Amino acid sequence: MRILVTGGAGFLGSHLCDRLIEQGHDVVCLDNYFTGSKKNVEHLIGNPRFELVRHDITLPILLEVDRIYNLACPASPVHYQYNPVKTIKTSLLGSVNMLGLAKRVKARILQASTSEVYGDPTVHPQTEEYWGNVNPIGIRSCYDEGKRVAETLFMDYHRQNKVDIRIVRIFNTYGPRMHPNDGRVVSNFIMQALQNKDITVYGDGSQTRSFCFASDLIEAILSTMEQTESIGPINIGNPGEFTILELAEKVIKLTGSKSKIITLPLPSDDPKQRKPDISQAKKVLNWEPKVNLDEGLAQTIEYFSKPIPL
Ligand code: NAD
Ligand code: UDP
Repeated sequence: MRILVTGGAGFLGSHLCDRLIEQGHDVVCLDNYFTGSKKNVEHLIGNPRFELVRHDITLPILLEVDRIYNLACPASPVHYQYNPVKTIKTSLLGSVNMLGLAKRVKARILQASTSEVYGDPTVHPQTEEYWGNVNPIGIRSCYDEGKRVAETLFMDYHRQNKVDIRIVRIFNTYGPRMHPNDGRVVSNFIMQALQNKDITVYGDGSQTRSFCFASDLIEAILSTMEQTESIGPINIGNPGEFTILELAEKVIKLTGSKSKIITLPLPSDDPKQRKPDISQAKKVLNWEPKVNLDEGLAQTIEYFSKPIPL
């Protein structure tokens, strides 16, 4: 198949391109390089089955493809809050453009949605039935509401225009090729620990997250796209739940760092807890994560320990 990956030069997009090329597909990797980098896909350049296109999905594009993975969108709070208007345009106009393309060429299209659609959840763990608790006017809203409206657009194009859609709700995912200055907690803590700098825990560190390793996530996305039992949304994540303080302690231990933990103010609307209910993914995809946090962190620490191509 010919497969379009938007955001293909990003952290998750580049791993997805790798797997699709491995599977024998032709891949069109589209990116505007806001948070992604050509370096993430450099090893694929020159492969006759790989094409790299500099494009912004807020503008239309004409391509002939069989599948579209829509991953283009900054994912780290620091980056999505840098230009919030652009962030919501990427989810809104980007989804309209990609759904229009899917409709025209009859491609199946998958949306990379997020656990952020649950906001600061009052239901724990989060099931797909839960509608969420999202502030529509806060500093995270450009991302959260953008992803929510993208889900709405996907469902309406499906119901109204019979577009063949899939939606995955991705919970915090980490691994090699995260940007070292990305601002997300795993990359921040590892970079700080490797440099023996203070580990910056926001708030008292009692908030929880569930961390999924990139390779597990990619397998789940691939099988969501190719199965025909459910259009989603399907939660994809690792149900292991850790406080941010526990994560800081683990990173210090695994790196053997001399870093001290310091606390900084908690950003507003920071969700207090997050843990996916993955019953649907288990049933529909016959999938569950294989890499536990210690193993995944060890591989990520190894990546960040070497000079990082940027
Ligand atoms: P990332 O920032 O590394 O990748 C996003 C990519 O999209 C980058 O390469 C960036 O340059 C590109 N991009 C941004 N805006 C664009 C635009 N307007 N046009 C074209 N390209 C654009 O982040 P990631 O972690 O790889 O996330 C990939 C997708 O998965 C995102 O949609 C994100 O919302 C979603 N997601 C990720 C996580 C996670 O924990 N990693 C969790 C939930 C959802
Ligand atoms: N966090 C932290 N220190 C950091 C970066 C993040 O304590 O240097 C916290 C953040 O406040 C949040 C959690 O770690 O509670 C996860 O943050 P991240 O930005 O990775 O993703 P989120 O799940 O909030 O979108």
